[in-house]
Parts: sequence; structure tokens; C-alpha cells
Amino acid sequence: MKVLKFGGTSVGSAERIQNLRRIIPTTEPIVVVLSAMAGVTNILVESTNLAAKGNTKLAKDKLKEVEQMHMTTCDNLFASSKYKMKGKELIKKIFNELYNKVENADSTAKKEILAVGEILSTNLFHLYLNEQRVDSALLPALSFMRIDKDGEPDHYYIAENLNRLLDSCTGINVIITQGFICRNSRGEVDNLKRGGSDYTAAIIGHTINASEVQIWTDIDGFHNNDPRYVEGTLPIRELSFDEAAELAYFGAKILHPSTIHPCQEKNIPVVLKNTLNPNDVGTTITSQQREGGIKAVAAKDGITAIRIKSLRMLMAHGFLKKVFDIFNEYKTPVDLITTSEVALTLTIDDTSHLEHILKALTSFSTVEVEQGQTIICVVGDFLAQNPGMASRVFNSLRNIPISLISYGGSSHNITLLVQSERKIDALRALQQVVNNPQTVSTVNNGNTSI
Ligand code: ADP
Ligand code: ASP
Ligand code: MG
Repeated sequence: MKVLKFGGTSVGSAERIQNLRRIIPTTEPIVVVLSAMAGVTNILVESTNLAAKGNTKLAKDKLKEVEQMHMTTCDNLFASSKYKMKGKELIKKIFNELYNKVENADSTAKKEILAVGEILSTNLFHLYLNEQRVDSALLPALSFMRIDKDGEPDHYYIAENLNRLLDSCTGINVIITQGFICRNSRGEVDNLKRGGSDYTAAIIGHTINASEVQIWTDIDGFHNNDPRYVEGTLPIRELSFDEAAELAYFGAKILHPSTIHPCQEKNIPVVLKNTLNPNDVGTTITSQQREGGIKAVAAKDGITAIRIKSLRMLMAHGFLKKVFDIFNEYKTPVDLITTSEVALTLTIDDTSHLEHILKALTSFSTVEVEQGQTIICVVGDFLAQNPGMASRVFNSLRNIPISLISYGGSSHNITLLVQSERKIDALRALQQVVNNPQTVSTVNNGNTSI
């Protein structure tokens, strides 16, 4: 069984939803995971922010906008007045409940409001398939998708409930469900964080041992640099799980950062495809590691660097343990680390416990904090047998100040830290090397060992 996830653009209008019906195979069993229509979750976030500030009227206006958008989609999606009516009644019912939630926008109501985008898109698609006489079933994600108290998928609960629901749909090929939304360990409505529909597809793939997870979006696969900032980026046809996970974790928006892990664990290929150009082969991500020089670059903003200097002259035995115990205590993941004789610099992106962390660190070290940093991740074949690869990377960045370098943690990436305002310059400079990914350097004489 395959899992096919369609992102916001792929369900962004009546025409796009009609196009989905042409893309999905209907003669084999599949699970179709849908995002909210493009832009909807952003408007819902705005609405909840307004509600939190007490601007109930403006918050409701935002919801009205979303309601209207779906009403218009209904008019254009369905052929018959019977189905137009069914769609509109459904939308009306959902929004009547939603307007009340704005009034008491506590954190649970907020999550319930954010969930509505996926609930609407999947219901409309399900109705559309009904009208088109394509046999399908809609499984509510809130009946099987659950995270535990650490925000991790509750695999046992998910497997038990999803398999039970799937068993009740025997004989139906097209199973539709919502991406992004889930319940938490208290049973409340929650979500898998922004862009989380990819992760939903991966978790479902993992649970049902899918033969493939397809992520359908608005671009022809994983590009070798961020197309939002760099011109002339090219699609990469094959990537390994490790390479794709690294790029997704370090900012490649095409994939939610947690998508690869569940698929890698079960060795399920992940295929990235373009709904606007379905015949393009896209990108296939598998366990196969292909040689190919410098393959791709990604960037992650919002990084804070913390420089920690031991109060003693040397980094005494136990110093690193003390430092990492603090980050562990505050459940704050550390991304990059470099050390010198007396100091250690590391980066974090979650600053919610920064104040407490700094207080604890200053009891045995001096600490400096630098915000507004960006991690640049360069993925390639950086094996010792490929001398000159790293020098090509650094040569291209010669005009950009780099405040931290992490190299050798794995054989397939170099990670650097730059000021966020230099991010675009760095990405553009690196484009010369990713578009010419030969393994042997042309800028050194062969004696360079990095
Ligand atoms: P969806 O709504 O389908 O989930 P997203 O907007 O989340 O789509 O992801 C697709 C977008 O990711 C592309 O339109 C592109 O602008 C952006 N993107 C950023 N980095 C990359 C990359 N390396 N390769 C392809 N797309 C990328
Ligand atoms: N609709 C959600 C978002 O915009 C989830 C997703 O699109 O993957 O973040
Ligand atoms: Mg996405």
C-alpha cells in the first residue's frame, strides 16, 4: 500500500482538487493525506493570535475569510447543485462551532481552530470523490494520530487504532485522512507543527509498512539549493535518507524535518513529486548513498549561538558533561558543537528555556550569547577519498564571515554558522559549487586534504 500526501498548493483551488482525482490511482489501495488549502493555516494562525489579544471581531473576520474561500471552492468544485449544497452545509456547520471557539481562545481552542483547515480540505475531497463515483473512505486523523507527552508519535496507539479503522474499510481503495492534526497525551486536539502533513504521511507509512511514501508538492522534487532565494537551482533525482534528513532538519522547507526518520526505520522509499507536472520523475529518497560530489545546500534561521568558557584555565574533566546535562534538563536540543582548549560553542534553535540555561551555565563558566544566526548545511560526499571538496565549499564562501564550522561529524555534510543577514549571500555563493558537483577540486593542486 502506498501513502500519497498532497500539500497546500495541490489542494489550493477547486481546479487543483479536481486535478488530484486524475493523479491518484484508484485501482490499488492507497492512503491519501491532505494538507489544508494553501494559505489557510496561516490565516487560522492570524485569527488565533488576534483572539489571544482580545480582538475577537478581527479574529472572526479572519475565520469568515476562510469560510468564504471554501464556499467559493464548493461552487467551482462540484458539478451538481446537490453536492454544492452538501459541501456548503458541511462548511456552515464547521464554522458555526468555530466562531464560538474564538470567544474563549485558550490553548486547546486555538489548536482546534488550527485543525479546521485539514478537516475542510479532506471533507471536500471526499465529497468530490463521492460525486465522481470513486469509492473512498474518510478516516478522521483525530481518531488514530496521537503524540505522547514528549511530542513524539505514540506508535502503539496509532497502530492499534489505524489498523482497526483500515480493517473496517476493506474493499475500499482510496482512504483519505488529514495531515498535520493529532491528539496529545491528554486527548486534546493538537498538531505536528507547521508543515506537519509530511510527517503524518511518514508516520502512517511506518505504521502500515507502506511500499512507498509520496510527497506531492508544487516543485519537481528536492532542489540543490533553496529556490526561494537562489536562481537556477536544479532538482536532485536521488538522495539517501541520511542526506535528505540532514537537509530537511537544516531548513529545506520541502520536507518537514521529522519526515525521513520513520521511513528510514522501515526502509520505505520517499518520492517527492510535483502536482503541477506529474510526469516529472521528481526525487527518490532511499537507503542508497550515491557518489556525487557536493549535492545540496539548505539554511535554517533563528539560531542562537552560545559560547561557554570554563572558569578554569583548561576544560577540566567533567566540564562537557555538566554543560550537556543542563541542556538535557531543559529538553533543549543542541545542533552544532565546536570545542577548543578552554571553550565550547554550541547552537540551539529553541530558546524557550534560554534564561534558565544561562543561569545554570554561569555558575561554572562565562557565557556569551549571539542571536540572529543561520545554519548553512552543505550535503555531499565528503569522504577522505575526495580531497578538495571542503576547500571548494570554503573557497566559495571566502567573502562571508563564518563564526562556526562543524565538519567530520558525518561523512556527508559540512555545517556552518553565519549571521542571518548573510544567509542569502552564502546560499548564492554556494550555488556555484552545487551546480558543478565534480568530486575532484579544480581550485587546489591536489595536496589539500580537506
Ligand atoms: P507543501 O504545501 O506542498 O507542503 P511547501 O511549501 O511546504 O509545500 O514546500 C515546497 C516549497 O519548498 C517549494 O515551493 C520551495 O519554495 C520550498 N523549498 C525550499 N527549499 C527547497 C528545496 N531544497 N527543494 C525544493 N523546494 C524547496
Ligand atoms: N497546514 C499545515 C501548515 O500549513 C500543515 C501542512 O501544510 O503540512 O503548516
Ligand atoms: Mg510542506
